[in-house]
Amino acid sequence: MRKMKRILVTGGAGFLGSHLCEKLLEQGHFVLCVDNLLTGAYKNIEHLVRQETFEFLQRDICQPLQVAVDEIYNLACPASPPHYQADPIQTTKTSVMGSYQLLELAKQLRAKIFQASTSEVYGDPHVHPQVEEYWGHVNPIGVRSCYDEGKRCAETLFFDYHRMHGVPIRVARIFNTYGPKMDPNDGRVVSNFIVQALTHQPITIYGDGSQTRSFCYVDDLIEVIVRLMNSDEIGPINIGNPCEFRVLDLAQQVIALTGSKSPIIQKPLPSDDPRQRRPDITKARTRLQWEPKVSLEEGLKATIPYFKAALEVRGVQTLSL
Ligand code: UDP
Repeated sequence: MRKMKRILVTGGAGFLGSHLCEKLLEQGHFVLCVDNLLTGAYKNIEHLVRQETFEFLQRDICQPLQVAVDEIYNLACPASPPHYQADPIQTTKTSVMGSYQLLELAKQLRAKIFQASTSEVYGDPHVHPQVEEYWGHVNPIGVRSCYDEGKRCAETLFFDYHRMHGVPIRVARIFNTYGPKMDPNDGRVVSNFIVQALTHQPITIYGDGSQTRSFCYVDDLIEVIVRLMNSDEIGPINIGNPCEFRVLDLAQQVIALTGSKSPIIQKPLPSDDPRQRRPDITKARTRLQWEPKVSLEEGLKATIPYFKAALEVRGVQTLSL
């Protein structure tokens, strides 16, 4: 039988964090969820608070936290460009000071600590697909830098705590992920396109839509995060779906799957928007025996009804599927 662990999940009320809390509870662990609810939502975890093995603390991870746990998963940070750019100083602080506080806690407790890093550490990459050895091409002073450089500095802190203090770290670089529990106002491409398609609004393509991303369904991602934590790998390790699509392809697929009559319109490309992105997941495949299973079409089919229901709860009229 698996030992019941006490596990801290920061950012536990967010999109990925709340799925992770559910998975760890299913596995029989005690979960302490910490979130400042800046972009996370209480409704994502409302159904969990009645469980005896779940506790929620509304806290900012930049403040010291004194709790007794066996493992820490750090997923606390706004991740959507409009949200992390809304208060860029807070974004850098969350990644850097938040990681520092949690690493101090992990050092004191001798606890394993996972860091949700990001494909953004590669910036607008000149190496394609992105391998973990690539150091990236990142603007240090642009509008995306608060997130990109914040996450890069967090990786630095993780590896220095590992080298200096022997803290057992796990660092994953997460590529674009989507699925139920995303906020309809999240601002990222998958949620925007689905919400626009369902509400008869124009689908907003930034630039000409030829830029690429690789979209991973949330269940596949949560599976590999837990697998990494329970392995001997420290990372950094890319996790994401290696199937690459143009943003225009995504728009067309969303229109086809919803039957929407929304027109596609172009909007200016935000500055420093990466041209292309696809993970090389050889390490995750060979070292964690992991492979994403859900295709974009299957994942969108599972996600569209979620957004429809989430909009209807807010009184927004949506097209019938
Ligand atoms: N994008 C778009 N329309 C939108 C939102 C995003 O064309 O309504 C584009 C964006 O410019 C980027 C890609 O979709 O090229 C992915 O954007 P997202 O914000 O989802 O994540 P990113 O990978 O840029 O962090």
